[in-house]
Formats: sequence, C-alpha cells, structure tokens
Amino acid sequence: MNAPPFEVADIVRAAGKSFVEKNRSRLTWQHLRLLRAIERCRTAALGGHLDQCSRCGQQAISYNSCRNRHCAKCQTNARDKWLAAREAELLDVRYVHVVFTLPHELSQLALANKRIVYDLLFRASAATLLEIAADRKHLGARIGFLSVLHTWGQNVLQNPHS
Ligand SMILES: [Zn+2]
Repeated sequence: MNAPPFEVADIVRAAGKSFVEKNRSRLTWQHLRLLRAIERCRTAALGGHLDQCSRCGQQAISYNSCRNRHCAKCQTNARDKWLAAREAELLDVRYVHVVFTLPHELSQLALANKRIVYDLLFRASAATLLEIAADRKHLGARIGFLSVLHTWGQNVLQNPHS
C-alpha cells in the first residue's frame, strides 16, 4: 500500500503551533497532549528499534507509535489489524451485512446503561436474525453470524454466534 502524500502529523507539524496559539483558550490539556502525540508518533522523538530481515539481513528502523487512542495513524493500524484478523476467520461462503441501529431517543439511556442496553441489542438482533433466517419464507436455514457493536467512540465489541 502506498503511503498517503500527507498525514495528519504533517499538518500538525506545519500548523499545530500557530493553531494552539490562536485557540489556546478553547483547548484542553487533552487536546494539547493529543497534538503532541500525533506530532511525535513514529518519529525518533519516541524512540525506536532496528528490524532486520532473517533471510536477507536487510535492516530498517521502526519508530515507536504514540498509542494515543485518537491518533489516526495508530488507530488505522489497530483497525487494519482488526480487519485482517476478521478476514482470517471468514469461511468460503456468501456473507450478508446487516445493520441494527438504536433510535436516537435511546442514546442517553444507552450511555448511562451501556452493559444492559448493548446486551439487549445483541440479544434482540441475534434473535431476529435467527428467527428470520429460519423462516421458510426467507432462508429456511440455521445461520451463523458475528455481531459487532459500533459506537460513536469507535470502540468495538464483538459477540459471536453460530
Ligand atoms: Zn500515534
């Protein structure tokens, strides 16, 4: 995969200081910490290590990542690893993507009762999938599926069924 011509870190390095100066009153210490993390992510500032190919001996320096959960570079890596792990689990069968959403009116209730509401969502969506798929008018089959909770915070929970 080709590297993008510009990264968020390039923008932060080029304009971050003036942005902070102009907006200091509105920025929290978390914002400042994030900007610093993005700026330094995978640079010599965070240290690194030397990788060497066990076959040809070629060496390359790998700089450490910032691991900030809001860093696009770090989260892209985490997302790619997660996707690769899910792809490795795929069977050679047809897949269908189904989305269940909570009504916006339940957002506050869900935020205050995450475990209960998300558990109910997983149970209700699983029961719905199993019932509809088993119905001869639709698929007439017992199905397997993987449920993933996608929240606005990008935190992902899984609940496998088969
Ligand atoms: Zn990072």
